Parts: sequence; structure tokens; C-alpha cells
Amino acid sequence: MGNERVFRVVFLGPPGAGKGTQARLLEEGIGACRLSTGDILRQAVEEQTPLGKEAADYLHQGQLVPDEMMLKLIGERLSQADCRSSFILDGFPRTVAQADGLERILKELGSELDFVLCLRVPNETIIQRLAGRRTCKGCGAVHHVAFSPPARAGRCDGCGGELYQREDDREEKIAARLSVYETQTTPLAEYYRKRGLLREIDGSGNIEQVRSRAFQALGANAA
Ligand code: AMP
Repeated sequence: MGNERVFRVVFLGPPGAGKGTQARLLEEGIGACRLSTGDILRQAVEEQTPLGKEAADYLHQGQLVPDEMMLKLIGERLSQADCRSSFILDGFPRTVAQADGLERILKELGSELDFVLCLRVPNETIIQRLAGRRTCKGCGAVHHVAFSPPARAGRCDGCGGELYQREDDREEKIAARLSVYETQTTPLAEYYRKRGLLREIDGSGNIEQVRSRAFQALGANAA
């Protein structure tokens, strides 16, 4: 997109914080390679690849896929040509072991992170967002039955694909996912704060309000 600046960014935040939505907007804005580990895994499950078969139960239960599997997946993707300069990681890392592994992978590639953007959102908002979230089977874009309903019922505004409710977005699975986030992923804010990489923003409000805060925090406005 004519942007010379390199952005190597991690999006951090609980499920439903808006990481996916904002990562897509940043991808459009700066033209970086976006890797959503959740999207990659869901596709693998759908296609019943060996990775998908191994990951399926974890996804359905709202539990984390083992670190070694995630590190292998992300290491392979980051070393491909399209991710060698700028990249946006959405949903990875989620544990300290993954963050350590990412640091090693990037070092081997002669790269490093520039920013970790953490979206802060109250739990009530997360629950409302997840329970009403509808995901596109085609492109993975998200809509919300009340906050960003599609123009045509049941169809994605972006690609026209079918919208569905993720199994792990059902109410009975949400508490488990929030608890996994709390115990396994929240320590990463401190991990990255210590490294001087953390940028925290308020993730409540509408998509445009959060986009504007995110771009400002990353200095991406000029991109
Ligand atoms: P997400 O779309 O980011 O909410 O991820 C959906 C599910 O994919 C999670 O609940 C996990 O089961 C799995 N997953 C995605 N990213 C990771 C990761 N970095 N580490 C372990 N599991 C993951």
C-alpha cells in the first residue's frame, strides 16, 4: 500500500475484545501479513487436515492447543516470504512459553516485535460481544447480531459467505475461555511491558472508535 514502514505487531486481549476486527483493519491500512491462529486452526478443523484433527477437541472445548503445535505452525508461517517484513499476529502468543518461542523464532529470522497492542474490555462487554457474534464461513470476518448486523441476513457483508455461530461462542463455553485467558494469557501483558513493547488501549465502544485508538497507539495514522 505504498507504506515503507515495517510493522511487526501482536494483538493481545481476551476473546471478544475485537482483536480480529482490528487486526483486519490494520492489515488493510498498512498492507501487512495477518496471521490469525484461530482462523488457521478453524480452517484446518473444517478441512480435516492432520493439524485440524489434532486441534479439534481443544477448539471445541475452548482450551488452548499445545504450545509445540502452535510454535511449529507460527514458525513455518513467519518464515514464508509474505510475512518476512511486516506482520500482525492475532491470537498468538497466548502463553509465556509461546511468547518465549516467538522471540526465538524471530531472532532466528533476524526479526523482532515492534509493538504489542493490548485491548482492554470489561467482562460484561465481552460476554455480549461473543454471544451475538456471527463468523463468516468463507473469509472469517465477524458480524454481530445487534452491533454490526449484516446487510443481508445470514450473509457476510465482505464476501457473501454464510454466517454461523462458532461452537466456542455459545454461552456455556464462554466462561471456560475467559478463565483460560485469565490464567494463561494475562501474564503476557507484564511480559511485554517489561520489554517496553506494550501499548494498551480501551477496546470498548464501536469499531471505528477502537480503530482510531489502535492506529494512534501504533502510530499507524500516517501509513
Ligand atoms: P480465537 O479465534 O483466537 O478465539 O481462537 C479459537 C481457539 O483456537 C482457541 O480457543 C484455542 O482453542 C485455539 N487457539 C487459537 N490460537 C491459539 C494459541 N495461540 N494457542 C493455543 N490455542 C490457540
